[in-house]
Amino acid sequence: MKITLVRGDITEQNVDAVVNAANSSLLGGGGVDGAIHRKGGPEILDDCRKLRASQYAGGLPTGQAVATTAGRLPAKWVIHTVGPVYSATEDRSDQLASCYRESLRVADELGVESIAFPAVSAGVYGWPVDGAARIAVGTVRATPTKVTEARFVLFTQDAYDAFEHALDTP
Ligand code: ADP
Repeated sequence: MKITLVRGDITEQNVDAVVNAANSSLLGGGGVDGAIHRKGGPEILDDCRKLRASQYAGGLPTGQAVATTAGRLPAKWVIHTVGPVYSATEDRSDQLASCYRESLRVADELGVESIAFPAVSAGVYGWPVDGAARIAVGTVRATPTKVTEARFVLFTQDAYDAFEHALDTP
C-alpha cells in the first residue's frame, strides 16, 4: 500500500472513501464532520439517521467505523469513525489506533482501493498532533488491507509537518 500526504480539504479528494472524524451521535458536528455534511449534502445525514434508528441506537462507539453514502462528494463512501477525546491521565492510544484499523476493515468490505483520512482526534478532541500522527501512520502501516492508497489529508501546516515526520520515521 502506498501512503501519501496532502495538505488540503478532505471533502475535495478524489478517492473511493473519505473518513470522517465523527462524534458518537453520528448526527453532525464541527471540524471535518461539519465540512463533510455541508459539502456532501443531506443524503449523508439521512444515512446516519438510519444507522441511529437501527444498529447504532446508542451511538457509534469510540474506535468503531461505519460507512454511508458520500452524497455529492467526489468519493463514493464516507466512513465515519469516532476518535477518543484526548486524556492526559489515561492512555487512549488503542482506541485511536482502532479508528484507523476499523476504517480499513470497512473499506475492505466495500472493495475500496483509495481512502483519505483526516487527523482523527487532533481537532476538537484535543489529541497532540505529533502523537496523533505517529499512531495514525503506525497503524495504517501495520494493518493488512486490500486498499492500495491511503492518503492523509491535513488541514494545517502543523498537522502536515507532524505526519511528514511520522512517515519519515520507520
Ligand atoms: P476530532 O473531533 O476528532 O478532533 P476535528 O474535525 O475537530 O475532529 O479535527 C480533526 C482534524 O481535522 C484537525 O486536525 C482539523 O484541523 C482537521 N480538519 C478540519 N476540517 C478539515 C477538512 N475539511 N479537511 C481535512 N481536515 C480537516
